[in-house]
Amino acid sequence: MPLWFCRVCGLDYDESPWGPDEHTPDHTLCGCCGAEFGYHDATPASARQFRAQWLASGAGWFYPNLRPASWQPAEQLAQIPVAYQ
Ligand SMILES: [Zn+2]
Repeated sequence: MPLWFCRVCGLDYDESPWGPDEHTPDHTLCGCCGAEFGYHDATPASARQFRAQWLASGAGWFYPNLRPASWQPAEQLAQIPVAYQ
């Protein structure tokens, strides 16, 4: 199953919240950075802006119970698609 990576924080997903055609976002929120798919990650500029805010506020998990015990923020951030870095 193909993985999809959050354009803001790099969290991996089993399915794309942008839909199979990558053009139909479901407007759910990233469990890590809290970005709304289809809004905060609609463009590289908006993704970078939301990422900067998220990092500046301490990079907390939007759903803290989803945070892995061994979370490695740097490794996750490295997974951000190149066009959105
Ligand atoms: Zn995210």
